[in-house]
Amino acid sequence: MADGRCLAFRLGVPESTIYHLPSTIHHLPSAAPPLLLGSHLDTVIDAGKYDGALGVLIAIAALEITGPLDFPVHVLGFSDEEGVRFHATYLGSRACVGRLDDGMLAIRDANGVSLGEALERDGWQDGATELFYDECSSRGYVEVHIEQGRVLEEAGEAVCGVSAICGQSRLVITLTGQVDHAGTTPMDLRRDALAGAAEYVLAAERLARSEADLVATVGKLDVKPGASNAIPGEVRFTLDFRHPDDECRESLLDQLKAEFASIAKERQLELAVDLVQSNAAVPCDPALTESLLDAAEAPTGHRRLLASGAGHDAVMMATAMPVAMLFVRCRAGLSHHPDEHASPEDIRVALEVLVDFLHQYSSSAFASATSAPSRFVPPSP
Ligand SMILES: [Zn+2]
Repeated sequence: MADGRCLAFRLGVPESTIYHLPSTIHHLPSAAPPLLLGSHLDTVIDAGKYDGALGVLIAIAALEITGPLDFPVHVLGFSDEEGVRFHATYLGSRACVGRLDDGMLAIRDANGVSLGEALERDGWQDGATELFYDECSSRGYVEVHIEQGRVLEEAGEAVCGVSAICGQSRLVITLTGQVDHAGTTPMDLRRDALAGAAEYVLAAERLARSEADLVATVGKLDVKPGASNAIPGEVRFTLDFRHPDDECRESLLDQLKAEFASIAKERQLELAVDLVQSNAAVPCDPALTESLLDAAEAPTGHRRLLASGAGHDAVMMATAMPVAMLFVRCRAGLSHHPDEHASPEDIRVALEVLVDFLHQYSSSAFASATSAPSRFVPPSP
């Protein structure tokens, strides 16, 4: 372990799936705000071993290599990023930026234990203020994470920077037609809700294929009455729609909804569209990201940026400070699975990038700052 004078490790112990009172291994007695590194230590049931944990371990390994730096660094291991116990995501990072409100604390697990009760049991209240970070008490947050997709593998590259974490819209769409006999109703007299829904699925796929950063998925359809000899009279289905730019996402969604309306009109179907969730995109900080790309260029020869389709703790940390992320290639893009794998060679490259990033940061003007970067504008709640 490197000299503790300039390092502060604060590690949550994931003995429960909630955010846990951390233990401070090293603490820098300095008023200077720290740079934060880390990721989550929990994962999903029957998962692999790289999602989350890699970002914590690689941060510790990087600080072991750099030794004392000119600014404090805290390594954070968050609990319950995945929402396995309380079905609410980012609990550890949410606590760190002071966003565990009464509504969140009232959420109950399958055994009826509320998040507030579980936290109190773990003594979290006493540790809350010690772990609180805001735009004045931190320089920024940098997270290394496996890509959880196949873009790096297809490109044959070990690591890349992240431009933004995609915003997403989740919709539930209901198409209503007419239930009729499958044998006696001529094709031109049918109002088949499922045939209409099939056109919707293909329209969403067509649009997403034509836009570089857009992904759209229909993952669930409920068909009524669901009989092999009855024409479907109602289909209710989901649409998951993600893009790194909120304006683009909203405008493309409007475009798709207009196409949906025209398909419904053509097929004489009734259409109801409910927006059930809308999350804004989280752009990564340009300065921190440029520094990560500078560090990545030497060992890899490229400066690739990728938008993250999945959510990460950086989403929550971004409500209080600038954030940046480095993705590491994972085999076959497989994640949340026991076969999840990142190669030792790729992890070595990521470690080299993080170490170089910290050295660059150390020699930059940011490192000597005694207050948080003034460029950060906190988003409105
Ligand atoms: Zn993760």
